[in-house]
Amino acid sequence: MDLDDTLLDYSGGVDECWLHACEALAGPAGIDPPGLVAAIVETRRWFWSDPGRHRTERTDMLRAWTRITAHALGRLDRADEGLASGIAADFADRRWERMTLFPGVIAALETLRARGIPLAMVTNGDASHQRRKIDRHDLERFFDVIVVEGEMGVGKPEEVVYRYALSKLGVKAEDAWMVGDNLEWDVLAPQRLGLRGVWLLGGAAPHHPRLSGAARIAWVENSGVQHCDSTWILIGGTHQCATGPSCR
Ligand SMILES: [Mg+2]
Repeated sequence: MDLDDTLLDYSGGVDECWLHACEALAGPAGIDPPGLVAAIVETRRWFWSDPGRHRTERTDMLRAWTRITAHALGRLDRADEGLASGIAADFADRRWERMTLFPGVIAALETLRARGIPLAMVTNGDASHQRRKIDRHDLERFFDVIVVEGEMGVGKPEEVVYRYALSKLGVKAEDAWMVGDNLEWDVLAPQRLGLRGVWLLGGAAPHHPRLSGAARIAWVENSGVQHCDSTWILIGGTHQCATGPSCR
């Protein structure tokens, strides 16, 4: 099971957090906050688009946010390392305030534990950040093993990560499901190893052509499981099934 944007609402309110951080620190410095947010959004897209940089930078998120902010300030001809650090730190604080578990997560984990289902968390990212999230929401008690990229030195979608989790659980790949929001990391890569990949969609749920041939599920809160073609998709909260008429 994945953590960010699967159990934890990690991405919700990101732009709002950036705006408030920019209003608090860039506004007084004479920089238009919405203009800086727009530059940050552009920079962020470029920054995370490179897989190598993504892999390196996600292990230290405060550094990454500082670099993104510094680059965005540079785009506005207002380069200022000190201001970039301040905005990134303020943004980080706001993110921590904002992050909460999705509704129903604790109840779902309690149910899985009560049924005796072995559970592994497999999460990419900064070791200290991921552990802080896990501790803050008291999630460790539900899992037989927790694999954090920043601790292991390697992350999804590397095979060794899933194989390590399976070995710790004592479960064969064909008997395991991987649940998460990232199509490659949580669905396609596990499927290549024989696990069943379950794609959890929280927000907008795009239909993805690479899904054909995979197993499909739609899980709409309070209405049980809905089977679509072949890929399993979990849709929580009030979101509607993304696959439209093909979902039944
Ligand atoms: Mg995730």
